[in-house]
Amino acid sequence: MNAEPSDAAPPDSPSMPAENGPARFSTWRALQTVISVAILAATLFTMWKPANLFSFSLAEKMSVALQPGKTTPLPQSSPTPNGTPRIGIVAGHWGNDSGAVCADGLTEADINLKIATLVKQNLTNQGFDVDLLQEYDQKLTHYRATALISIHNDSCDYINDEATGFKVAAALSSPNPEKSARLVSCLTDRYQKATGMRFHYNSITSDMTQYHAFNEIDPNTTAAVIETGFMNLDRQMLTEHTDLVAQGITSGIICFVRNEPVTPTATPAQP
Ligand SMILES: [Zn+2]
Repeated sequence: MNAEPSDAAPPDSPSMPAENGPARFSTWRALQTVISVAILAATLFTMWKPANLFSFSLAEKMSVALQPGKTTPLPQSSPTPNGTPRIGIVAGHWGNDSGAVCADGLTEADINLKIATLVKQNLTNQGFDVDLLQEYDQKLTHYRATALISIHNDSCDYINDEATGFKVAAALSSPNPEKSARLVSCLTDRYQKATGMRFHYNSITSDMTQYHAFNEIDPNTTAAVIETGFMNLDRQMLTEHTDLVAQGITSGIICFVRNEPVTPTATPAQP
């Protein structure tokens, strides 16, 4: 917003003739108030379009105030001036280290970057502004976006037959826990549908919930980490069906941004 709504109201008028007296002045003040309220209301209703939500937190508060019922989900705002949702995609380990490494040299960083690049393409095709970010990208400091997703994968070692599936986690300390929960639900549900993989409930670690970028980005940027699979047992899905993996993440992000219906129970209880 360029100006506060109240700025549009006439200022207290020092040029008001003195002979108008207190009665006229009170009438003028009352009229001013009515005009101010009318302008404020008009501004609010004009803003009540997702495409116009450019003020990150203020627009959200206004939209909440205008919702007829509290069960209506929160609309997702966009901090970009042109109204296009901005999405950050971190390709895990990119620019820093290789991450997990397989015996034949396949690295987690390579898989992550391949997936992240496809997700960026998909979202760009859908009209989003997308930043493809390195693990410790300088842009992450105070990064503002509708959502930030960091893509990682789990070990290439054979652990046991249970070491298969994906994981999604958001910051435990998020100031907007309901939005974080929605992002996790959307990613979990859509990723599962796209890949047929199962959620690996038992191995969400503090590496995920206390992921370093969660503390670097703007607190109003909703963020999550997804481990798209285990590089050992899920290798075929990750390397030969990378398009499905990327589609699952893309659909999850779109579900969040567009407030698509999602089953809250898709979010597993975290230990
Ligand atoms: Zn990793």
